[in-house]
Amino acid sequence: MDNNTVRIHDKQFKIFITKEEIRSRINEMGWEVSKKYKDLKPVFVPILNGSFMFAADFVRACSFDSDMMFVKIKSYDGMSSTGNINLELGFSGKIKDRHVVIIEDIIDTGNTLVEFIKETEKLNPASITVVSLLLKPDAVKHDIPMDYIGYRIPNAFVVGYGLDYDDLGRTLPDIYQLDE
Ligand code: 5GP
Repeated sequence: MDNNTVRIHDKQFKIFITKEEIRSRINEMGWEVSKKYKDLKPVFVPILNGSFMFAADFVRACSFDSDMMFVKIKSYDGMSSTGNINLELGFSGKIKDRHVVIIEDIIDTGNTLVEFIKETEKLNPASITVVSLLLKPDAVKHDIPMDYIGYRIPNAFVVGYGLDYDDLGRTLPDIYQLDE
């Protein structure tokens, strides 16, 4: 095995997006988001666990006043296309009239996000937008505000940079794709 492949549990993964590429793309995303939000003191809302690494790097690329509230979502088993989410850790402060910037690691079907956006809307924020490092355009089933996307990727399973495969692989600094 070389540096370009990793084995996690029973599967082989190959390098897909390097940490250098991730860093440079996040700086661009931070710049884009800053243009719109720099005077709005938004609240960044990273969805745990997967987005913790991206969120830490992304907020450092946003050099303006903001604050953060972490939420943790558990999707019920056998989630249907309508989705059903359980907020294991909810908002820790006031959302009404705030500009909410949800931070996601990856949007696959979009089920989780669409349900979470509905929950957030009930709290009457001033606005809601979504920043996601990755998006699988061929898998997404909902009309979600997707103004700030790092990479549009094929429908293959990815790990690393916060994303796990059965609890392993989260701490890899690069992103790897299933090697089939
Ligand atoms: P969605 O509700 O959009 O279908 O997916 C929600 C969650 O599924 C993501 O936040 C992520 O935790 C997980 N997920 C989706 N695709 C992948 C993937 O390719 N790799 C990993 N590790 N998790 C994924």
